[in-house]
Amino acid sequence: MRQIARQARNRGLRLGFVPTMGGLHEGHLSLVRLAKEQADVVIASVFVNPAQFNEESDYERYPRSLMRDADLLIAEGVDYLFAPEPAEMYPEGFDSWVEVERLSRKLEGASRPGHFRGVATVVLKLLQVLQPHFAVFGEKDAQQLAVIRRMARDLMLDTEILSGPTVRDEQDGVALSSRNALLDDPGREAAAAIPRALRAAGEALAGGERAADPLLEACRQVLAAEERLELDYLALVDPESFDPLESVSRPALLVLAARVGDVRLIDNQRLEPPAE
Ligand code: AMP
Repeated sequence: MRQIARQARNRGLRLGFVPTMGGLHEGHLSLVRLAKEQADVVIASVFVNPAQFNEESDYERYPRSLMRDADLLIAEGVDYLFAPEPAEMYPEGFDSWVEVERLSRKLEGASRPGHFRGVATVVLKLLQVLQPHFAVFGEKDAQQLAVIRRMARDLMLDTEILSGPTVRDEQDGVALSSRNALLDDPGREAAAAIPRALRAAGEALAGGERAADPLLEACRQVLAAEERLELDYLALVDPESFDPLESVSRPALLVLAARVGDVRLIDNQRLEPPAE
C-alpha cells in the first residue's frame, strides 16, 4: 500500500484518503464522493481498530461486511481499498501511542477512556503509510474530527484534514451509523428522539434564545420523553477545544451521547449566532 501511494505521488497525482471501520453506508460514501471531487486517486480504508474500543463486546459485535463494502467502494469509483489485519497494524511488541491530551479527556473521551488515543494512533499510522494530500472525516464524529485536526497541527502532518457534513436518514433524521444496524424497531424509534432534540435546540435558538442552559433544556426535554433512551452527556461546546460555552455568541456545537439499550449513539448540531 505504501508503494502504491508513493508511486501515485511521484507521478504528480493528488491523493485523497477516506478512513473507515467498514459497515459502509451513505455517510461514508458521501465522504468518498467529496474525496473524488478533489483527488486524482482515492484510497479508502476499512479497519475495525481494536485500539479504539473501550469495550471488548462492542469490538466483537461491530458490524463487519468487507466484501459488501468493497462493492460499494468500487461502485463509487474508489481506486484502492486498504484493509489491513489487526496483527499488521499492531504486531507483537507494539508500544507507541499518540495522545491528544486535553481534548481526549473531555466528553466522549471521558465516557470512553482510551478511545481517542486509539483513534489518533491508528489515523497517524494510516497517514504515515499513505501520506495522502488530504484525508476526509465526518462531522458526525465532531470530537474525533477536532482530535485529528489538533494532532495534524501539533505534529505538523503534511496531510490536509477535510470534513463532510452528517448524512441523516431521510425519514427519521437519525444520523447514519454502522451501529444503527444493532437497533431493533423500538430502539430505532427511541433513537429518532436524538435528531428531534437537536432540532428543538435549533428552533429555540431561532426563537431568540442564546444562552446555553435554555438551549440544553429544550434538547433535554425531548430526550426525557423517550424512556428507552438514556442520556450520557449533552453539552454546548467550542467546536475546536470542546470547552463548554455559556451561550451561542460564536459558532458552537451541541454535542450529545445516549444509549438505547446497549447501543451507544452520538450526534451533534452546529449552532451559529443569529445575524444581528
Ligand atoms: P466509522 O466507520 O464510523 O469510523 O466512520 C468513518 C468516517 O465516516 C468517519 O470520519 C465518520 O465521521 C464518518 N461518518 C460516519 N457516519 C457518518 C454520517 N452519518 N455522515 C457523515 N460522515 C459519517
